[in-house]
Amino acid sequence: MSTAPVPPNEKPAQVRRGILFIISAPSGSGKTTLCKQITANVPGLWHSVSYTTRKPRPGEVNGKDYHFLDETAFRQMIDRNEFVEWAHVYGNLYGTPRKELTEKMEQGIDVLLEIDVQGARSVKKKFEDGVYIFILPPSFDTLRTRLQNRAGDSPEEIQRRLQKAKEEVWSYREYYYIVRNDDLKQSLKELESIFLAERTKTKRLNMTWLEEKFILDKEGKSGNA
Ligand code: 5GP
Repeated sequence: MSTAPVPPNEKPAQVRRGILFIISAPSGSGKTTLCKQITANVPGLWHSVSYTTRKPRPGEVNGKDYHFLDETAFRQMIDRNEFVEWAHVYGNLYGTPRKELTEKMEQGIDVLLEIDVQGARSVKKKFEDGVYIFILPPSFDTLRTRLQNRAGDSPEEIQRRLQKAKEEVWSYREYYYIVRNDDLKQSLKELESIFLAERTKTKRLNMTWLEEKFILDKEGKSGNA
C-alpha cells in the first residue's frame, strides 16, 4: 500500500510527553547532591521545587531549594488542590506543586521529583508510567556520619531521621531502580544511564520521523531512495 508524503506543515509536530522521574532515599543518602548534579548533567530535565513548612537550613535559597511557607499558606494550597501529592515528613509538610509539573510534561520536558517514600507511593497511583528510583546509603554508619556533619539539624532531628531511615530502606522493593550511593561519580554514572535508557524506550518515543524518512512511494521504493 502506498502512503502519500505529507507536507511537514500539514502535520503538527507531536511532542512526546515528558517522563516523570521520581527519586526517593532515606535522609542523608546524598540524594540532594545527586539530584542537583544529575539535573546539571542531563539536558532537558527539570527539577521540581517542592513547597515545605520546614525552616530553611543555612545556605538554602527560597524558590530554589524549596518554596518555604507557613502552615496556613500550605493548607490553603491543599484546599485549592494545588499539589500532586503532599505528606507529613519529620514533623513538617512537604508538597509537589501540580501546575508546573503538568505544564512541563505537556511540553515534552522530563521532570524530576525528589520526594519521600509516602509521596512516591501517592504519585505511583497517578503516574504508573513514572520511573521510580531509590537511592541507598552504603551503610547505617555512613548515614549517621552524613547526618551529623550536615549543618542545621538538631540532635533530636538527626535521631528522628536515623530511626526513620532504618524503616525506609526496606521500601526499596517498590522502586524500579536502585542506586547504592557509595561513590558519587559512580552513582551519577548509574543515574545518568537510567535517564538515558528510559528516554530511548520504544513506548516513549515519538516515531513520526520514521514515516517521513522511510516513506514508500507507489513502486514500493523508499521515498528517499
Ligand atoms: P529535607 O527536609 O531533608 O529537605 O527533606 C526531607 C524529606 O522530604 C526528604 O526525603 C525529601 O525527599 C522529602 N520531600 C521533599 N519534598 C517533598 C515533597 O514535595 N513531597 C514529599 N512527599 N516529600 C518531599
